Amino acid sequence: MALGVGTVATELRSTFAGGKTRTFEWRVSQLKALLTISINHQKDIVEALRADLNKPEHEAFVHEIAGVISSCKLALKELRRWMKPEKVKTTMTTHPSSAEIVSEPLGVILVISTWNYPFLLSLDPVIGAIAAGNAVLLKPSEVAPATSSLLSKLLGQYMDTSAVKVVEGGVPETTALLEQRWDKMFYTGNSKVGRIILAAAAKHLTPVVLELGGKCPLVVDSNTNLEVTARRIIGGKWGCNSGQTCVSPDYVITTKAFASKLVDAISYELEKFYGKNPLQSNDMSSIINSHHFERLTKLLDDDKVSGKIVIGGQRDKANLKIAPTVVLDVPEDSLIMKEEIFGPLLPIVTVNEIEDSIRVINAKEKALAAYLFTNDKKLKEEFIRSVSAGGMSINETTLHLAERTLPFGGVGESGMGSYHGKFSFDTFSHKKSVLIRGFSGDIAARYPPYTHEKLNF
Ligand code: NAD
Repeated sequence: MALGVGTVATELRSTFAGGKTRTFEWRVSQLKALLTISINHQKDIVEALRADLNKPEHEAFVHEIAGVISSCKLALKELRRWMKPEKVKTTMTTHPSSAEIVSEPLGVILVISTWNYPFLLSLDPVIGAIAAGNAVLLKPSEVAPATSSLLSKLLGQYMDTSAVKVVEGGVPETTALLEQRWDKMFYTGNSKVGRIILAAAAKHLTPVVLELGGKCPLVVDSNTNLEVTARRIIGGKWGCNSGQTCVSPDYVITTKAFASKLVDAISYELEKFYGKNPLQSNDMSSIINSHHFERLTKLLDDDKVSGKIVIGGQRDKANLKIAPTVVLDVPEDSLIMKEEIFGPLLPIVTVNEIEDSIRVINAKEKALAAYLFTNDKKLKEEFIRSVSAGGMSINETTLHLAERTLPFGGVGESGMGSYHGKFSFDTFSHKKSVLIRGFSGDIAARYPPYTHEKLNF
């Protein structure tokens, strides 16, 4: 496949140059095709996600299929408005004149996607690229092969393949793709590969969006509704793909005095959700593959961590399952506190005063998401003001990303650029400044000779 990559890119460029992707009608037809795929092939999508991740049907629908459907519907509803040039005021400097900002498509977009939400995170950027009038090439993740192959089949069947293409493959194919010239690259995945993408982009001055990850902190104040807090922590951690989610809480910070109450509440709610033997539960995804299973078990088997397990710890290698696991007061220099966990393990770090949590968070790289549970208004304001992260939810986990009126993206080590809703359209558009004048309104002082009399107005 790597051999054909140049041809694929050339074909997309020639389609874009032909102009059809710019039309309102073409954009609508392609968005409708994506909607049809998501509605008519739900069973196939659920099966692919089951094969790749053993993802429960409910999560497959709510977290992936419904997300694609709602993005398509929103784009279809708002497209005319989004495409309309935005009139802006002019000043005396250009008087008399009018001005507008015209959103024009960038050209040919490369979307490189990841495995944890392989349907949603492949198609959500594609929706934005199409809505903005671009041609697009999607490279799904080879780590979720069933979904990758289904995407290739369905997009080939339903989409205009002269303008929307899928190339399947892993590192060699992606490396070959990165050698081509693109008008924007949209990458979702880890920050090590993010650096490879950014370096490749420099060659052609290609703008990039990097949707990366990191260690998302979650702070629990003792002044909270403990039952709801515990439930929402579980929902955002184990209820999101077994913690294999970029915005899942990576570690919790609470006070020494409150930690045991929090552990008890999480333990109690976990048993209600997943039973006494969570390894047998059908309501939790498996770990994606044995490489990640080994990586996660290594984090737990670390001498600095293994004696600190207060909930869970059980694993089933044959079925790639790890029970919801909480570790208490592990040292800062343990691997589990240094690496992004991206799995069902949750360390709890304790501090003397809850305000100290902000110092702990700010000592690390900027996260993709940060969370706080509290009833304390002052603490809430302080957290929002002092913690820098891609986004945050207060008294919630992960839910800010479901709100399409909010941009979704990272900052610093967790990425650059953002998307969702209108922000997706803007991400894949160039905002062209257009100033329009008539032939009146010339001022002599603008032109030479620059005499004193002319400038003295
Ligand atoms: P992955 O292994 O699927 O890799 C992502 C993509 O990069 C794949 O398409 C893969 O083919 C490609 N790739 C891998 N190695 C490459 C190389 N050497 N050169 C070129 N391309 C290469 O996914 P992953 O990186 O394991 O994904 C998990 C990470 O993604 C976590 O850090 C997570 O937080 C992050 N993530 C971020 C978001 C977000 O929206 N910000 C969403 C999901 C996951």
